[in-house]
Amino acid sequence: MNLALEVENLSFAYGPKKALDEVSFAVPQGVCTILLGPNGAGKTTLFNLITRLFDSPTGTIRIAGFDHLRRPNQALARMGVVFQQPTLDLDLTVEQNLRYFAALHGLSRKQAGSRVGEELERFDLVPYRKSKVRALSGGYRRRVEIARALLHRPKLLLLDEPTVGLDIPSRKALVDHVHGLASEGIGVLWATHLLDEVEAGDQLIILHRGRIRAIGCVTEVIERLAVTSLSEAFQVLTKEAA
Ligand code: ATP
Repeated sequence: MNLALEVENLSFAYGPKKALDEVSFAVPQGVCTILLGPNGAGKTTLFNLITRLFDSPTGTIRIAGFDHLRRPNQALARMGVVFQQPTLDLDLTVEQNLRYFAALHGLSRKQAGSRVGEELERFDLVPYRKSKVRALSGGYRRRVEIARALLHRPKLLLLDEPTVGLDIPSRKALVDHVHGLASEGIGVLWATHLLDEVEAGDQLIILHRGRIRAIGCVTEVIERLAVTSLSEAFQVLTKEAA
């Protein structure tokens, strides 16, 4: 199986405060991996290490087989990221935001034109192409961010709590879109604290207080704990106070 992301023995501390403790897991291509953890679990810290906003003093990170420290350009070029805080330019149009990013990734004008067109189609954004991002709803803004993260055809897509603040239909649409992407062969790592964003075929990683408490498909995690639902499994695994 091709691996989009491999993380081995990763630890991180903010001064004396340990935020990640010997974390190891892999994200296969073609699967949506949900990183589920309550507030303060360490999800954002993990994303900051994978995206190299922070350097990891310990452990190894490989993206599509490329070591993060030894082959950083190759590794980072194979990753698309949607951060928790929106980063679109609200006063540019949807198309301008996408084209600007395509240029940053070194796509020619022609390549950018065709990739932007493809992603606008995929996310049902064609009617909003010339709209300023400021005029879009929260759900559509998030779609633009995901489309932007995919322009350079990454092998790994990271999403840090992308549905925060969205209404239920917009959340559902986004969850469906991202699951569709995984089924096309991208490795997706989706951080959330919302259990209803998990689907039956997903790989699940439950993180709590910086340590992985469970990893596997949803039914495996439920069976291993001898409980009857994911919410019960989550409660059992995260009951230790944060
Ligand atoms: P949330 O869902 O609330 O975003 P999270 O799972 O993303 O939480 P992190 O933000 O990674 O968790 O935080 C992990 C731990 O590290 C928490 O205990 C948090 O208080 C602590 N922490 C995070 N950032 C800092 C910082 N800059 N300085 C000190 N401690 C921090």
